[in-house]
Amino acid sequence: IKATMMDYQLTIPSILKRARDVHPHKTIVTKMNDESIHRETYGEFYRRTRRLMDALRKAGVKPGDRIGTVGMNHYRHLEVYFAAPSIGAVLHTINVRLFPEQLIYIINNAQDRIIFVDKSLTKMIAAHIGEIKGVERFVIMDDLEAGEAAPLPNVVDYEAFLATGDASAADAEDTYTVNENDPAGLCYTSGTTGNPRGVLYSHRSIYLHSMAICMADTLAVAERETILPVVPMFHVNAWGIPFAAVMTGAKLAFPGKHLLGSALASFLEQEKVTMAAGVPTIWNVLLQHLRKNKHDLSSLHTMVVGGSAAPKAMIEAYDKEFGIRILHAWGMTELSPVGTVSRLRAEMEDWTYEKQLEMRGKQGPAVAGIEIRAIDDQGKDVPRDGKTSGEMIVRGPWVTGSYFGLDAPESFTTDGWFRTGDVVTIDEFGYVMITDRKKDLIKTRGEWISSVEMEGLVLGVSGVLEAAVVARPDDVRGEAPVVFVVARENETVEKKAVIEELKKHFAHWQLPHQDDVRFIDAIPKTSVGKFDKKMLRAQLTAE
Ligand code: ADP
Repeated sequence: IKATMMDYQLTIPSILKRARDVHPHKTIVTKMNDESIHRETYGEFYRRTRRLMDALRKAGVKPGDRIGTVGMNHYRHLEVYFAAPSIGAVLHTINVRLFPEQLIYIINNAQDRIIFVDKSLTKMIAAHIGEIKGVERFVIMDDLEAGEAAPLPNVVDYEAFLATGDASAADAEDTYTVNENDPAGLCYTSGTTGNPRGVLYSHRSIYLHSMAICMADTLAVAERETILPVVPMFHVNAWGIPFAAVMTGAKLAFPGKHLLGSALASFLEQEKVTMAAGVPTIWNVLLQHLRKNKHDLSSLHTMVVGGSAAPKAMIEAYDKEFGIRILHAWGMTELSPVGTVSRLRAEMEDWTYEKQLEMRGKQGPAVAGIEIRAIDDQGKDVPRDGKTSGEMIVRGPWVTGSYFGLDAPESFTTDGWFRTGDVVTIDEFGYVMITDRKKDLIKTRGEWISSVEMEGLVLGVSGVLEAAVVARPDDVRGEAPVVFVVARENETVEKKAVIEELKKHFAHWQLPHQDDVRFIDAIPKTSVGKFDKKMLRAQLTAE
């Protein structure tokens, strides 16, 4: 027998139409470069996106063509997010903070035909224009002044390009239907551990991921929320928040280039933002700012933190000093990105604060739709006891099954699960805890030390702002941990205090040597704000 249900396609244009039909009056707010505030309704967004779809078609864009974007978080970028996939093209969000070689590599690898770019971000592209192949046109996502010199060849400004399209023509033409398995979005990994790799999302995977992050047990993106993604639209599509926001009608607050300190805090305050999302470094900077400056952030109930581990000290500081809950999530480019979210379960509500903090510091259980296992070197499942670690492998409808134009069999098990390269424990509640990335583990006297665990402890030492731990080769121990510490402004940290703290959890032979506790001004960061351990290791080898 056959199921009786419709074969309804899960596509991005169907998300877009909901903006027209269900919440056209809701708003998308952008803090522009000059700090003025731009507002558009979802209804306007819908019409402009339809116009852009037509303009792209008139420019010769065909299904499957790649459309690149190099931009911060703002309303025009959102329009491109929906226009490109809605005509069957592929939205390729490009990380502008990559090294030039990587940036050129991914533009050429993706074979972008048109690139939408913020005026403020054209410099890097202009400097390497000779090496970029096949881009026919650049659309500047700002207004060019009359007579202003074009920053790139074959340039048109956004509104002029939009004007070539006809919103009603596109509207009438609902005959073009994308299939849910068609490609819709292309993202490259940020290359923390190697060259960027392309992951090509389908309409279906984006649709299902959007629904998944709206679930009450996950990020709970909802109509009633005002969401500010600090995470850039070029970092795994701002974790899928733009798609989920358009799906639900949540008010969107785009910070443009204003990602730090008072510019960010006052935007959060003015727009009464209820949820924000970003990597830990962003929230650490904001924390220091909030401690010194007064802001009314009473509407902000949740900060989604992912990309790197949310330190328990930070979760506790936001709880106790500002009443803002940090919601810890784990994800990867290969998962669009969300895979786990750490919310307390009902039975944990009356646990002690310390025990709850323990759970919230973990990355949490798999989101419905995603399956997670931890396996040993022989490929056998390790016990779910919260102690035994193994490599995390995952599968699900928004997990990639291969890489774009790249053969990488080592990234998959023989039966098709994706190998994350993250080393984890899983406890009896199914909560995953990342103990390290495989490549960052430190092997001392034949035993693994988790750099993440050490970092967490060092952060608890008074006066410490940031801490990163990497391995250095050691004649006696094989590898030894080196702790890089950044002290808070006007504070000093004693080496002894760091080692004393580590003694509480590590055996003496695992401890760093006094000389291996090093003070630096800042930990180098990757293009998406994670600690750049490759750089720290290179620094050690260069000495
Ligand atoms: P890259 O692999 O280049 O860093 P991604 O942005 O896809 O690019 O990063 C995915 C990785 O980031 C994960 O494999 C994991 O190591 C790390 N990560 C993401 N979220 C967390 C988290 N909440 N805690 C610890 N590590 C995390």
